[in-house]
Amino acid sequence: MPINTEEYQRIKSELDPHKVTLVAVSKTKPVEDIRRLYDMGHRDFGENYVQEMVDKAAQLPEDIRWHFIGHLQSNKVKYIAPFVSLIHGVDSLKLLTEINKQAAKRERVIDCLLQVHIAEEETKFGLDEDELKFLVSQFPSLSLENIQVKGLMGMASFTDNLDKVRQEFRHLKQIMDRFKNAEMPGFSIDMLSMGMSSDYKIAVEEGSTMVRIGSLVFGARQYDE
Ligand SMILES: *Cc1c(COP(=O)(O)O)cnc(C)c1O
Repeated sequence: MPINTEEYQRIKSELDPHKVTLVAVSKTKPVEDIRRLYDMGHRDFGENYVQEMVDKAAQLPEDIRWHFIGHLQSNKVKYIAPFVSLIHGVDSLKLLTEINKQAAKRERVIDCLLQVHIAEEETKFGLDEDELKFLVSQFPSLSLENIQVKGLMGMASFTDNLDKVRQEFRHLKQIMDRFKNAEMPGFSIDMLSMGMSSDYKIAVEEGSTMVRIGSLVFGARQYDE
């Protein structure tokens, strides 16, 4: 399916009054599609795979803000550290420490979001509330000077039950509000990355500040995870 620039404009005009950032998720899509949106003024693009993001970034303008939204393995941080703008899915101190190390090598500060597990489905990814609490309690002792934790990211259950989706987003917003006061060097959270093609409207109603939209804008993906 081709890129749908009319749908892009429509979503933008829907989000802009709420000051919600649109991350256009371009995974599996060609650089020509990204260039189309870039030429319309769009700068925030999201990718799930390290190699794909590195390859695309090399072919596209440097002022693109690249969002890494997939599961990031510690041994691959070094490849995206030179240019990534925001890493959405951080879910361990080990990964934070590695991001900090690679950012320091590049003499930059990398912004991160902590991924919280809010969906019903079993998955290895994302922190539960207790793990988040523990991570936040340990954070100051690590003196991670080359990262900034800016907020939380979450994914709702894959379901047609929109009430359930709403409850999960509401829950994530509540968790963020609880940790908002935990201000310390390198840690100040007010960004909330939640909402995808199927549920972004609900996410915005529940306080999302950043939605990650792929298929609505770029068309359905042929090979999905
Ligand atoms: C693929 C992906 C998206 C975008 O999904 P769509 O349903 O195509 O909008 C958003 N967030 C994450 C983490 C993804 O992997």
